[in-house]
Amino acid sequence: MKTLKQSMPGRAMLLKRVATRFKFLFMHVVVPKPLRTFGRHPLAALVLTLAGLAAQPTAAEELAKNLFGAKTLPAVAAPQSIGFYSKGCFAGGVAIPLDGPKWEVMRPSRNRRWGHPTMIALIEKLSRDAAADGWPGLLVGDISQPRGGPMLTGHASHQIGLDADIWLTPMPDRKLSINQRENMSATLLVDEKTHLVKDAIWVPAHMRLLRRAASYPEVERILVNPGIKKKLCDTVKGDRAWLRKVRPFWGHDYHFHIRIGCQPGSPNCKRQDATAPGEGCDKSLDWWFTEEPWRPNKNPDRPKARDVMTMASLPAECQAVLDGPDPASAEVVTYYGDGVAVAAATTAPVLAAAPPPARASVSGTGALPASVNAFAATPEIGIPLPRPRPGN
Ligand SMILES: [Zn+2]
Repeated sequence: MKTLKQSMPGRAMLLKRVATRFKFLFMHVVVPKPLRTFGRHPLAALVLTLAGLAAQPTAAEELAKNLFGAKTLPAVAAPQSIGFYSKGCFAGGVAIPLDGPKWEVMRPSRNRRWGHPTMIALIEKLSRDAAADGWPGLLVGDISQPRGGPMLTGHASHQIGLDADIWLTPMPDRKLSINQRENMSATLLVDEKTHLVKDAIWVPAHMRLLRRAASYPEVERILVNPGIKKKLCDTVKGDRAWLRKVRPFWGHDYHFHIRIGCQPGSPNCKRQDATAPGEGCDKSLDWWFTEEPWRPNKNPDRPKARDVMTMASLPAECQAVLDGPDPASAEVVTYYGDGVAVAAATTAPVLAAAPPPARASVSGTGALPASVNAFAATPEIGIPLPRPRPGN
């Protein structure tokens, strides 16, 4: 109790130091029952004070979602994804323009139109290929924050620039205003009760769009609502091998999610396990049509990972990404897939370990900016192990 009599700054500093040092203990300490009952006891008060200090993030423990969510521009560096889809960040990101010949970015105020150059090039290519298949154009949903990392709201993944959401609503004939893009509500393709696709609004063009997205070797997974997966399982004729990449998952009833693999130049990018062999039109899909996956969350108040992640939760390199220099403007790191593009300046890598500027492109892409070119195809995936519960 002696310390409590010291001058305020000294006491505060000491308490902070003690709290930091013993934070681990306090986080895990189970207060014995007798102690819980004597809240007014001075010792209990000290315990509570220390525990409170420990719970309050210090500067170094600021939530990663706040730090990454505050960044409006990418870190200028060679493109590099660091960590895992749900725990990481990326440098050298580029933006997809708000408008393209065959796409429009939705909810632009979120500023989540950033990705690894390969991801952005792939979306632009998909927009062209899909148009050739009869899909008028893409409504592009969230990709990543400028430097990735956990988001203030929404997704658990989308952290390393290799995930993108595309709406299952075709681009309308008339250009959407910025206001419409912010507010236009999405069309749910799946009945919330039966978890089956609404046949009145499902069209073959939906299938062709998903098939086209799955056709690119860079794409490792496409997440859709289980109802959409079932519709594909029930109706796709001919080549069905691509169904393997299409994975059932909660949500994803108005958009689908494209996930590409780790790209060359990203030694610290953590690959996801390969999907199970086969089309996935089996028991693993049947599980989604039982009651189990839809049970109410037993622990709704449990904080989500993004709500507790600090910089210490992320790969150490993410600090350099956070501290990396801004480009002169968003425009100079906006990627136009028509050859006009300017990719991220790569003269000042922020990461000591950064390899020479990674070259990115999408296989089969036509005109690419001078700053990107072809790279080897995504490595062959290993023999996957069956998993008891379908993962995403
Ligand atoms: Zn997504």
